[in-house]
Amino acid sequence: CSLAQCTITDDDVFRGVKGLSILDRMRLDEKVAYVTGGGQGIGRAFAHALGEAGAKVAVVDLDQARAEAVAQELFIKGISAISISADISKPADVQRMIDTIVSKWGAIHIACNNAGINLNSASEETTLEEWDQTFDVNLRGTFICCQAAGRVMLRQGYGKIINTASMASLIVPHPQKQLSYNTSKAGVVKLTQTLGTEWIDRGVRVNCISPGIVDTPLIHSEDLKPLLRRWLSDIPAGRLAQVTDLQAAVVYLASDASDYMTGHNLVIEGGQSLW
Ligand code: NAD
Repeated sequence: CSLAQCTITDDDVFRGVKGLSILDRMRLDEKVAYVTGGGQGIGRAFAHALGEAGAKVAVVDLDQARAEAVAQELFIKGISAISISADISKPADVQRMIDTIVSKWGAIHIACNNAGINLNSASEETTLEEWDQTFDVNLRGTFICCQAAGRVMLRQGYGKIINTASMASLIVPHPQKQLSYNTSKAGVVKLTQTLGTEWIDRGVRVNCISPGIVDTPLIHSEDLKPLLRRWLSDIPAGRLAQVTDLQAAVVYLASDASDYMTGHNLVIEGGQSLW
């Protein structure tokens, strides 16, 4: 091209927003994060991903030993990490978690509300105890965490909340007998949408990730084993998701590169919900 046509522009696309490349815009240096259910499975992978991107990470789990082990893994990689044992369905535990993080690091920028449980039974046999237990953790617990972290973030005028929902919030995967799980996760999506729109003008983004079927201990229960073969034939990608398939999404949603997204349900399921 001639020199006249090749004028160097001054725009953000050319120079990068604030002079940063797109990969640098996804760095999380100086950010403080927590991940509930961080002791294994998806939460462990999220904790590693956020730490690798530069964040300090509080690994939170009902199971103290698991949380400690993952915090130790991060520490070995040179990531600042602490472990906190807490039950997200208990408001006092969640407040202690928030207070511990704020007193240690002075802020909370990234809240990964990931802990969840899955109890299976045919709908006609589902007891109210099972229903309540599922909702206490998956929906009520996620709300308790969103509210407690959200209060800190609204004071800061900055925050990224990422809830873990599920593909089961959208479709009913082949017979899994998990009425309470599916409905609780649909609630997580609506919680995310509502908070995401309510808080965006005060600097807080709330999004969720909906994984398909992920190869973690959660799906290897005796109840679910017979269904694994059936599920595989339902996934256009031809395989279960690995926890590593979800890591880039959590970093993106935790970073300022996703600032224009809120209330979004990011579905990562190898095409299963479209089949
Ligand atoms: P997992 O069972 O492997 O790990 C969950 C972790 O959360 C465990 O370490 C457990 O101790 C912890 N936990 C459970 N209840 C808790 C509580 N009340 N307070 C604090 N911690 C608690 O599960 P996973 O497969 O890693 O799932 C993580 C999230 O992803 C869950 O919300 C789950 O519903 C969701 N999800 C999983 C799949 C899948 O196929 N594995 C698919 C879609 C969504």
